[in-house]
Amino acid sequence: MPLKGLLIVVSAPSGTGKTTLCRMLLKEFKNMEFSVSYTTRPPRKGEVNGKDYFFVSREEFERMVEEGDFLEWANVYGNLYGTSKSQVLKALEEGKDILLDIDVQGALQVKKNLPEAVLIFIMPPSFEELEKRLRSRGTDSEEVIEKRLNVAKEEIKKAPFYDYIVVNDVLDVAFNKLKAIITAEKCKTERLKNQFDKLIKDRAIVELLKEA
Ligand code: 5GP
Repeated sequence: MPLKGLLIVVSAPSGTGKTTLCRMLLKEFKNMEFSVSYTTRPPRKGEVNGKDYFFVSREEFERMVEEGDFLEWANVYGNLYGTSKSQVLKALEEGKDILLDIDVQGALQVKKNLPEAVLIFIMPPSFEELEKRLRSRGTDSEEVIEKRLNVAKEEIKKAPFYDYIVVNDVLDVAFNKLKAIITAEKCKTERLKNQFDKLIKDRAIVELLKEA
């Protein structure tokens, strides 16, 4: 049976504008919820436990891995990050659309476990631009920037395994593409099966669709 909600997985090299685009999507699609991940990374200034992440110890995280609590998990820049299986499946079952902002290793695990997931890779327009954006943040040291650029190369190599690639050159253009992808995915016949009565008000049409 198809999942009732849409599972959208977004990945991008650091500095591509993924967080901004994800925020825009959550504002646009009222039925969409952000999946709050578990991480062993310490909270940054302003981050709230339960809103940005569930901040847990490495022991707690490893216990959750052992117990099979994660839909996917990965080591990113030396910290562990994971998506709660029960949290995501429950929300999808309730018909909510779920947005996952996770790295490439995690995204590919999700696709393997739930092939209906929609994987979107946000691509920087160029390396030059990516470097410029990372520097303009002013938050990272030269060493960290170099590291992020090297990781970006590895991440970009995984983009061909995604369902969609959106280049973020002009923010509004990229956002419109994301909206179009999600809207089209929501109209897919395969996803709508079992939900015809919710979608179409006319009983006669619903009966005909059920007969088909
Ligand atoms: P940050 O520490 O900057 O918030 O996130 C670092 C990276 O970890 C980002 O690329 C982000 O997408 C990724 N990430 C966040 N949560 C998860 C998760 O649950 N699973 C995986 N695989 N990656 C995650």
